[in-house]
Amino acid sequence: MSRKPFIAGNWKMNMNVESGKKLIKELIPLVKDANCDVALCVPAILIPEMVKAASGSNIKIGAENVHWAASGAFTGEISADMLKDYGVEYAIIGHSERRQYFGETDESVNKRTLAALNAGLTPIVCVGELLAERENGTTNDVLLKQLSVGLKGVEDVTKVVIAYEPVWAIGTGKTATDAQAQETIAFIRKTIGELFCPKCAEKIVIQYGGSMNAGNCKGLMAQPDIDGGLIGGASLKTDFAAIVNFDK
Ligand code: PEP
Repeated sequence: MSRKPFIAGNWKMNMNVESGKKLIKELIPLVKDANCDVALCVPAILIPEMVKAASGSNIKIGAENVHWAASGAFTGEISADMLKDYGVEYAIIGHSERRQYFGETDESVNKRTLAALNAGLTPIVCVGELLAERENGTTNDVLLKQLSVGLKGVEDVTKVVIAYEPVWAIGTGKTATDAQAQETIAFIRKTIGELFCPKCAEKIVIQYGGSMNAGNCKGLMAQPDIDGGLIGGASLKTDFAAIVNFDK
């Protein structure tokens, strides 16, 4: 079963209209012949302008979060339908920074994931262990809980992208080794097979995220279970194109 690789950027709370448009214009010719799906997840306020900037190219625009309700009294929040209205195709859900700083839980990840799917967005559901959890040998337990609660009630799990992001590797310059990332993503795939179905496990796209860059992407992408990357820091520059073109 061959899965199409998927490289996505996460701009976090960076860029503005001018720098975002400039980067997208620079990236368009560099990634136009990519053999993978390409997306940039951008701050909500930049979405309309970045959708326009990327229009007609193979770069799709994603959001960095999405609320679970369709509408209502949720001051400051943005619904999946609102994102869809503006041409958004993906939404990152449960990024470790949201879990750490904004009280995101596996239960809220689940509600956001179901809402995104319901609106026709592709959720990029982030899972990953803390350094202490890796060191005390509970990585797989943590992942099992994040997956079983976070994806509860999902009808077609192959419409979800999973990003395995060890928290200790995000923004730290410390990448998981190719072998560590492969072993853990193979565990995630096996778990999807057990929670859903073996065919789903073969089909679902699972990314690695955590200090992935132009230098280490080839080794990571050569691993049999790693289908792509969620890229933070390196998505803020044209280096992102080198990751997208990892196979060239
Ligand atoms: C991320 O924010 O999802 C991420 C992986 O960041 P970085 O690539 O900077 O580690």
